[in-house]
Order: sequence, then C-alpha cells, then structure tokens
Amino acid sequence: MDLYEKCRLVEEIFEELDREISEYKSSSGIFCPQNCGGECCNKDDICATVIEFIPLAFFLHNTQISEKIHNEAESKKDGLCVLYSQETGRCLFYEQRGLVCRLFGFSSIRDKTSRPQIVTCKRIKELYKESIQKNPCNIIMADYHRRLSLTDLRLGSGLLHINEAIKKAIEITGIFLKYR
Ligand code: SF4
Ligand code: SF4
Repeated sequence: MDLYEKCRLVEEIFEELDREISEYKSSSGIFCPQNCGGECCNKDDICATVIEFIPLAFFLHNTQISEKIHNEAESKKDGLCVLYSQETGRCLFYEQRGLVCRLFGFSSIRDKTSRPQIVTCKRIKELYKESIQKNPCNIIMADYHRRLSLTDLRLGSGLLHINEAIKKAIEITGIFLKYR
C-alpha cells in the first residue's frame, strides 16, 4: 500500500470517528459552547503521530502552501500548534486536523473497571455534569489510536510535538509526491 492509499484509510477512519462524535453530541446534548475560542488548542504540549497529519500534508502540497506551513512550524518558538490562530481561536485547517484534535472533548479512556470516562475540558465538565453522567461516551481513544497505527506501523507509533509531527508529515508526503 502506498502513502496515498494509507492517507485514504486515515481519512476513512476520521470520517467514521466524526460520525460517531456527531451522534454522541446529538444524543447527549453535549456541545462545545460557541464562545469557547478553541481553548483546547491553546496549549504548548500537544503531541501527535505523523500518520494523523498525512491527509493535511497532501492537502498542503496540493494547495502549494506546504513550504510556508513547514517554515512556520520550524520557526515557531512558543510551542503552540502552527495551525492555531490565537486571533480567531480557530484551527486554520480544521477539516484536515489530526486524530488528537478530533478525539479531545468527545472520547473516553477506560477506568480500572473498564467503564468509559470521558476526556474533556473543564468547561464541558462544568456545563454538562449531569449529561456526562447519564450519557457515557463509548468512543474509546485507544481503539482509534490502534486503528490508525495499523495503517502504518512506523508513522503511526511514537508521539511527537504536534509541530514536529506536521513537519515530518509534510516532508514524507513531499518525497512521495516527488518520486512516485
Ligand atoms: S473541547 Fe472544550 S476547550 Fe475544546 S473547543 Fe470544546 S469547549 Fe472549547
Ligand atoms: S491542528 Fe488545529 S485542531 Fe489540532 S491542535 Fe492544531 S489548531 Fe488545534
């Protein structure tokens, strides 16, 4: 399987996850408040795998902005994700965001008794305390991480700082597009 085919697999997994999250939001009534400003992106220690940013990398190459984003990631010193706009509180390439970005807020880890415990922000925990108790979130982070890692064992394992993961994804995709 070549990198493009792996990219399609990753996109299919993302589509399934987005569908599951959308269903959970509708059934539980739990949503991000509109005035949040993407606080979960406003952190300097977000980590990700390379494989989850391969779809972004193809998109950036196809739209001729891969070099610009790569350079920005290279010179970013504050540790924030290179795709996060502090002015708008939004992701510049939301449709192409990674697994970590899709999972946070609406997915769970299993506790000692195997019950799902949602991993979300303080704001959602406070706003939806009762709904969270009544509506366990059965979207399990580890399941999606495992599925993604199976698309490419090397690129899907090992966490890097998000800007490093984005840079590597751009580099690997660039080489693939040049020599395919
Ligand atoms: S998960 Fe929390 S911090 Fe992130 S966008 Fe939603 S409400 Fe905001
Ligand atoms: S890729 Fe987008 S959603 Fe993910 S951390 Fe960066 S700005 Fe936030």
